[in-house]
Amino acid sequence: MSDSAIRVRFAPSPTGMFHVGNARSLLLNSVVARQSGGTLVLRIEDTDAERSRPEWTEGIIRAMAWLGVGPDDYEGPLLQSEYAAEHAKAALQLFDTGRAYYCDCTREDVQARSGSQYAGYDGYCRSRDLAAADGRALRFRTPDEGETVVHDLVRGEPTFENKLIEDFVIARGNGSPVFLLANVVDDVTMGITHVIRAEEHLPNAPKQQLLWEALGHRPPTWAHTPILVNERRQKLSKRRDKVALEMYRDEGFLAAAMRNYLMLLGWAPSGDREIVPWSVIEEEFRLDQVNSAPAFFDVKKLTAFNGEYIRALSVEDFVEACAPWLIGPFVTAEQKAEAGFGITKPPWQSDAYDPAVFAAVAPLAQTRIGLLAEIVPNVDFLFLDTVEMDAASWAKASKDARVLGDVIAAFEALPTWDAEQLKTALLTVGEAHGLKLGKAQAPVRVAVTGRSVGLPLFESLEVLGRARTLNRLRAAAELAAV
Ligand code: GLU
Repeated sequence: MSDSAIRVRFAPSPTGMFHVGNARSLLLNSVVARQSGGTLVLRIEDTDAERSRPEWTEGIIRAMAWLGVGPDDYEGPLLQSEYAAEHAKAALQLFDTGRAYYCDCTREDVQARSGSQYAGYDGYCRSRDLAAADGRALRFRTPDEGETVVHDLVRGEPTFENKLIEDFVIARGNGSPVFLLANVVDDVTMGITHVIRAEEHLPNAPKQQLLWEALGHRPPTWAHTPILVNERRQKLSKRRDKVALEMYRDEGFLAAAMRNYLMLLGWAPSGDREIVPWSVIEEEFRLDQVNSAPAFFDVKKLTAFNGEYIRALSVEDFVEACAPWLIGPFVTAEQKAEAGFGITKPPWQSDAYDPAVFAAVAPLAQTRIGLLAEIVPNVDFLFLDTVEMDAASWAKASKDARVLGDVIAAFEALPTWDAEQLKTALLTVGEAHGLKLGKAQAPVRVAVTGRSVGLPLFESLEVLGRARTLNRLRAAAELAAV
């Protein structure tokens, strides 16, 4: 098979938020397709009618675009539900060729015969020659002997004894095909050559491979990539861990950092590097180099990556990247609670935001934040009429609030309002009170920004302007009664 015939697919189910594990499968498939000049197919596995919703499909497509895999990069979206006729035809073919048989056993029947609730199906209907009828499931007749070897680029050759594979159901009593069959039939119909997906589907692979063969096709090459675990080595779960890509996006992870990080789960580029341009990943990535051990999804490391990616942006791009947190679009807190994601409005009045003011401090913020959402608490003092002082910070800083009176006088007297002069003035006042700069500036910072940490103080004051700075200092002085 020539490389250019490679066809891979990304096959998410539109039943919820886009999982970071899905994001990784997407990127792996996309890289393999691009490297080989092959094709990536997007197949939406929407046959679970109860749980599938069109808005989740839209979410998938949006998340993919955010990750850099846009509509031009794949064939589709193809909807699994539109291939129902193919699924039914395949089920019939398997029955007609004797590879499947109808079964009217209930779960209770099977349990009663075996005496165990865990026992698999015992093959009771194998030779009963039942015809199709409502309520009868169609079961695949697995071979009694031999083994099924799954050629897996990540795991070598996982081998499954056929006699341990039960005669599994391929179509339910109401005739609807189960996921295993629909998934295989679609892969066959869509000419898929490589199935690259998460390890949790490995137990399906021998059954699916048997189906490929029974339908008269050569099975695909498989690659089951390692599960993602949290810091306690537990499989990432949506109940316990933050797994929705949308949430990471809304906290201000850059797509480029996320892409880079996801590709490093179980794989590394050459030369002891971790942060590398996407072009290097596309050039160097090899599925057969992916480690099969569980991969730690390390949010701290991802955040560190993100900080590096933020700092590597041009100031112009940084300003643009911050826009969603500064100017929207925003969702209401209720919408966010319902959807589980979205960016809520910053604390200032909409018309108070001034892009020129933000642009003036953007380079200072760029070196300090690890997540784009952190931009808001760093610059809110510039757009709020009055700031609310953080109580703990003020309690600490107000010990040296006695400087405020002289600071106000010195600032009032400044002929020009610039960072350097502001600093000199504060230094001088501090010295007169026996305080080093750090101590003397603490009450000023909390009074003006509301917090004890933030952007460089004097540049901040310069941008905030004389009137607003002095107003806030006077209010704090009054509060401290100095
Ligand atoms: N729809 C399946 C899932 O989202 C994908 C199965 C596969 O990739 O074969 O887990």
